[in-house]
Amino acid sequence: MDLRTARSKTSDSVGIAARCLQGLRRRDFVAGAALIDGRWIAGDERDAVVDPATGEQIADVARCTAAEMAVAITAAERSFAGWRGLLPARRGTILRAWASLMLEHSEELAVLVTSEQGKPLAEARYEIAYGAAFLEWFAAEGERAYGETIPSHKPGSLLQVRMQPIGVAAAITPWNFPVAMITRKAGAALAAGCPMIVKPAPETPLSALAVARLAEEAGVPPGVLQVLVGDPVELSGPLLRDKRIRALSFTGSTQVGRLLFEGAAQTVKKVSLELGGHAPFVVFDDVDLDKAIKGVVAAKFATSGQDCLAANRIYVQRGIYSAFVEALAEAIANLRVGHGLEPTTDIGPMTKLSVANKCRMQIDDAVSKGARLISGKKDQNLGPSFVVPTLLSDVTEDMLIAHEETFGPVAAVLPFDSEEEVVARANSSEMGLAGYVYTDSLRRALRLSEQIECGMLGINTASFTGPPIPFGGWKQSGLGREGSRHGLAEYMELKYVCFGDLED
Ligand code: NAD
Repeated sequence: MDLRTARSKTSDSVGIAARCLQGLRRRDFVAGAALIDGRWIAGDERDAVVDPATGEQIADVARCTAAEMAVAITAAERSFAGWRGLLPARRGTILRAWASLMLEHSEELAVLVTSEQGKPLAEARYEIAYGAAFLEWFAAEGERAYGETIPSHKPGSLLQVRMQPIGVAAAITPWNFPVAMITRKAGAALAAGCPMIVKPAPETPLSALAVARLAEEAGVPPGVLQVLVGDPVELSGPLLRDKRIRALSFTGSTQVGRLLFEGAAQTVKKVSLELGGHAPFVVFDDVDLDKAIKGVVAAKFATSGQDCLAANRIYVQRGIYSAFVEALAEAIANLRVGHGLEPTTDIGPMTKLSVANKCRMQIDDAVSKGARLISGKKDQNLGPSFVVPTLLSDVTEDMLIAHEETFGPVAAVLPFDSEEEVVARANSSEMGLAGYVYTDSLRRALRLSEQIECGMLGINTASFTGPPIPFGGWKQSGLGREGSRHGLAEYMELKYVCFGDLED
């Protein structure tokens, strides 16, 4: 069944995701079996997968156990020698084949992502391409894991530094980018020569399992990539405790990141954490208003706001404040809310009800403390998981939204007067993932690029991610980097070798 037929069955969205999934040519993409040691496991118990837009069950998946995780760890360890022993070019060929298969199945993967995550189909298609690009990038980067030769400080010695694969790696991934957060981690780990066990978010297992099927078809050997779905605490326990897991990569909330960091300390694993954001988006009054509005709409409303790079605090200089608020209200009014499988949708449901409720709580809190609700219709009868795009102006620093990540389509605008003041306010957060600055002054742009405390900064742009850049945050937004050559290093150990006594 094609999407048009699935849509025409009913005037509303009830059942649309289930019908689209039933129509997939790749029935195995919805089988919900976990991948352990090259075998697809149906599991004794199954968990429901739901369409977040309607709350309807659309599939079920194996609920893996801690005992199965132990089997997976042993299989991963067994696969390590063979995988690290391949030439990097051979690993690269397999990663490229995996990327090609993802692109070949882009439409079906996108339908899976939208059905279980909720994002508009166009964004899901983009995610598949974005996700595949990490595999291609790391396919090449694995061949460039160069070491160093150090000018010797000892007579008759040769000093080398090598990069060697760290061992078995684990990934705990989120639901907002259910495909790309897996390929960004697995691309790097596999290119480095490390097997990886993935525990995806329980909300979005189908995308993860479908991508794993394609990895297997591309030639990734048994044990080198395994995906186990189930209870997060039960499955992460063995990953944290087992000393054979040498690296752990996590994307998700700062709260869970802290727990995992603590757990990983027992066996001193190498940990990389991509945690929450609270990005400042700073607009000076010398800017081209249209460009700044276009930028802020992209930075706030992509992925329906469920993005760690989302602009959470929009600081606008007093001189253009009123004009900016008016223009942003107009832009927001044009965003269409609906089921992600409907072609007109710009904003889908929140994947988790808790995120929708947090948005509503932040709106109520801000309004009760004096913020102006410029747009955002209270109730469009779309269901509890939907949050209509909302603009809050005159937000002050005492409001929850000014110091907590929102993770939804609620734009908070705060006025400021001076550059010095806005830098201090932008840096007052304990988060430091991304930031944005819009200004026409080169001197000011250079000054702020040095002063803003964050891992990634867009100057006059809201679009800067991709495989070549080091993605990651400062402060409590995380540790380590993904993508780029730095992302490969997260899965490698340095070994210093001193060859002595070389003189005759
Ligand atoms: P979360 O941190 O609870 O979930 C992320 C991953 O961690 C999932 O795979 C989940 O199953 C797993 N997990 C949850 N609790 C765990 C535990 N105790 N032990 C081991 N693994 C565990 O995130 P959430 O509750 O789904 O979302 C809440 C907030 O997290 C969001 O509002 C947002 O602020 C943040 N978040 C950030 C990102 C990001 O891209 N950095 C992604 C998702 C969520």
